This record gives sequence, C-alpha cells and structure tokens, in this order.
Amino acid sequence: MQKLGKNHGGYHGETMDVRAVLRDIETAARQHGWTSEVFHETGEFKWFALHRSPLVTHHSSRIYISAGIHGDEPAAPLATLKLIQENHWPENVEIFLLPCLNPIGFTLNQRENFDGIDLNRDYRNSKAAETCAHIAWLKRQPPFDLYLCLHEDWESHGFYLYEQNPDAKISRAEKIIEAVKKVCPIDLNEIIEGRAANGGIVRPNILPQERPDWPEAFYLITQKSRQGYTLEAPSDFPLATRVNALVAAVNAVINF
Ligand SMILES: [Zn+2]
Repeated sequence: MQKLGKNHGGYHGETMDVRAVLRDIETAARQHGWTSEVFHETGEFKWFALHRSPLVTHHSSRIYISAGIHGDEPAAPLATLKLIQENHWPENVEIFLLPCLNPIGFTLNQRENFDGIDLNRDYRNSKAAETCAHIAWLKRQPPFDLYLCLHEDWESHGFYLYEQNPDAKISRAEKIIEAVKKVCPIDLNEIIEGRAANGGIVRPNILPQERPDWPEAFYLITQKSRQGYTLEAPSDFPLATRVNALVAAVNAVINF
C-alpha cells in the first residue's frame, strides 16, 4: 500500500461531516445501550461521554478511550463510531468513551480549537473551556486500568503508537502492532517524531513534571491510570484504512 502523497505541510486528505458523525455516534450508542453524559456545550455542539457497563463484573477492567482532540484527524472519531456500531465488546470490560473532544476543530479541518489552542497541550494550567470541562469530568470518574488516545499523524509512513507503562505491567504494544499490521502499514523507522522507535512502538521516558504543556496522555498517566497507549494512524493513507487500523488496535487491547 502506497501513501497518497497529499499531505504537504499538513493534512489534505478526506474530511468528515462532524455533525453527521456525532449524530450517528449518539444513535448507535443509544441502540446498543450506552449511557451518555453531556459535560460541555458551545453553541450547537455538545461534548459527550459514553459509558458501557461490563456484563460480568468479576475480573472486569475499566478502559478509557478518547478521540477527536485534533480536528484534522477524522479517522479517530470515525473509528469510535465503527466500534460502537460493531458492538463487539468483551463481557468483562467497562468502557468510558469520549468520541470527539474538539468538534469545532473538525468544522475547520484544523488541529486546534476555534481559538487556536492545541487542546492536546492544554492539560496543565488549562486555558480552553473544553479542556477544563474534560478534566472536571475525568475527576468524577474512577481510576482506569488502561487508557487509549486515538490520533492520526499526517507525516508518518505507517501506524505507530506510544506506550506509557511506568509500572512495567504486561505490555500490549506488540499485540496491537500485530493486529494493525493486517490492515495498515506500520511505520518501521528507527526514529519517529524525534524519539527512538522499534517496530512502530515508541516508549518515551517522560517526565511530566518537567513539561509545562501537558498532552491528555500526561494528565491520564499522572492522575487516572498506570498504563496507556496513544495510537497514531498514518493520515496520508486512505481514510478507511486508518479507521480499520484504529479499530483493530482498540480490539487488540480490549480482547487482550
Ligand atoms: Zn493528534
């Protein structure tokens, strides 16, 4: 599979109709018995958090999934829609799903929010109302066994992921790559975004206290969870391929 060669200086691929996608997500979630909480509203847009209880509570695990914090990464919310529609959740997982953290960004096909703030650098000393509302919601939730943040990278040559695993729990990174490899190329470069990578896996040594501009994952790893993955689909490939990559990655984690 070849790159499309469209992304010069940014994302120039297919876009999505965010209003229609959010409507479809709400409809599918209702059909499949999710509960929905609106935690923020601006104009016509609502920010909602979906929740699905485990069918069996014995040995259940709590998994947090977020998408759409960058408005030029359409495969992420579309992957959450597909996951909700497919409805193949293991009985023992409890899911907290935030399908779109930056809906207005998608109306502009822009990474940042309406005011030009990159929300994924706003989780410490937060300025944006969306981030403040999201953090307030997170504080009301129990701790998560694992988090997944769904993203896309317009420059990458294939799918890759970042792992945070400070307690050296059993890694799910290799399983994720194995599953995604069947549907999407993997970025096999030894350096990705300036960090050492191996087979599409980046394990950065992060020191959140030394960085002022926290991404969502830094907030999650310091406050809510002790293991998590930021998944990066390569956005210079067809949209359907990237959606399938993110869906395969999530399924690999929840069925681990
Ligand atoms: Zn992103």
